[in-house]
Parts: sequence; C-alpha cells; structure tokens
Amino acid sequence: MNILTFDIEEWFHILETAETEDAEKWDKFETRIYGNTDRILNALEDSGSKATFFIVGWIAKRYPDIVKKISQKYEIGSHTGNHKPVWAQSPEEFRDDVRNEIKRLEDISGEKVVSFRAPGFSIRASEMWAFDILAEEGIMYDASVFPGTHAHGGISGAPFSPFKIKSHAGTVKEFPVSAKKLFGENIIYSGGGYFRITPYSIMKKWMGKSPYNLVYIHPRDMDPGQPVINSLSRLRKFKSYCGLGKAEAKLKQLLEDFKFIDISSADKLINWNSVEQRNAFSLEKRQCRNMR
Ligand SMILES: [Zn+2]
Repeated sequence: MNILTFDIEEWFHILETAETEDAEKWDKFETRIYGNTDRILNALEDSGSKATFFIVGWIAKRYPDIVKKISQKYEIGSHTGNHKPVWAQSPEEFRDDVRNEIKRLEDISGEKVVSFRAPGFSIRASEMWAFDILAEEGIMYDASVFPGTHAHGGISGAPFSPFKIKSHAGTVKEFPVSAKKLFGENIIYSGGGYFRITPYSIMKKWMGKSPYNLVYIHPRDMDPGQPVINSLSRLRKFKSYCGLGKAEAKLKQLLEDFKFIDISSADKLINWNSVEQRNAFSLEKRQCRNMR
C-alpha cells in the first residue's frame, strides 16, 4: 500500500524560524504557491495515482482557487490555519482552529473534510489530547504521527503502519509516516527533506520491500528558486534546501515506478479489526519507556 500526501503551504511555512514565523509578515513575502502546486498537479496528471492534500488555512483564505483546483480531482484535508505546532496551542485554541479550518475548506470546495495533519508532526505523546478534539470535530483520518525523532514532534514508540487511536470521542484512524528499522534506529526515507536527501535507488528498494509506504511532500520541496531563510542554522539549511533541484524528477520517477492511493482509498483496503489499537495512555507510556 503506497499513500501519497502533500502539505500545501508556502516556502516560508518552515517552523521555528525567527525570520518567518510571525504570520503578520506573511503577506509581504513572495508568493510561490501557484507555480509549485501546479508542478505537483502536472506530475500527478495522467499518472493514474491519487493523493491527499493537506492545506494550510492561510493559503485557502488567500487563494481559494487553489483549494478549488485541487479538490476537483483530489481529496483534501486540513493542515491547520496558520501552521502553528499543536504543542504551541492550548486545547481551546486548537479546537477553534480545527473547527474553523474544516469549515473553510468545506465552504470553498463543497466537499466533506475528514482528514488532518499537524504542522511538523507536532502531536507528541504529551499532545495526545489533540485526538479527542480531532474526533469530536469530525476528523476520521489523521496523518500527524511521525514514528521517530523529529525536530518539531515525533512519537518514537508509534507503529510504522496504520493503527487506531482510541480517543474519548471515538476512534481516529492513524496513517503514520512510514519508516524502516536500521541499526536500531527508525529511519524515515519518504518525505520532505528525507525524500530529497535519500538516493532514489535506496528509496525505491526500501519502498518495494515495505507493505506500507506513506510519502509526504511540500510544494517548496520542488522549488530550487525559493528565497533562502538566512536565520536557519547550517544543519536546518541543509535539511530545508538540499536536493531541491532533483525532487521534481524524483517525484515523477516515483509515480512511474509505484501506484499511489489517497487516504480514504487506503481506509477501504485495511481490515481495521486486525490492526493495533492504541490510546493516549499506551502511546505515552511507550514514549516514556523510550526516554528512559
Ligand atoms: Zn506543514
């Protein structure tokens, strides 16, 4: 099972940077989302693959035509309003955001929105309360769990394949980022900077062997002309800008070599009675165990 996802956000929606994190400044920055989204849609066209697009509300509000264009052919989900990490929000703030942004995307697209991804995979073991809110607000599918160490989130004890999260308000079906165990470490190879940095031959080999792959790509991952955020550390610059020039060709190759589906199609193929069920407590317990 190969699932393709895109996080529709601008080049400046990189978390925790002094230069760009203030949403008040965003209107002054260069707009690159049209060209970059078209690059993705063109690559997908005629590929026979489907994808789920998680859209930032700030983009949807300013450029509703992008939401309309995507939703005519593909499934859409929310990527929050202002791309703020879940751990930086109070539960009340998060609830309002989820509710408002689902409504915004539904009003523009005319489609029901039941999928969500947190910015920077920012639902950690300490933010498991977020799943109660997501379930209460009608989210059925979540793709916010990163089963490894991540700069802005990550739950290292989480499964590498779809699982159920039992919340107080019902079950959320989780589609985590796929990973590979190598020398005792959880290695991510199929999204964002990992997608750009991992050599294609290795990615193809590992994906070919894995029963579950979830690929996540941002429009900026394929934009070598984007402005450089100077306040990023050298390591973060490498992670943010390495391999930009080759990523579009890599995506096209991936679409030639693999058939991808979206999250709701994947849901129908999974026997949910036989997958693991976790709840906030057990994930948290595992996380604590890993930290010891
Ligand atoms: Zn994002």
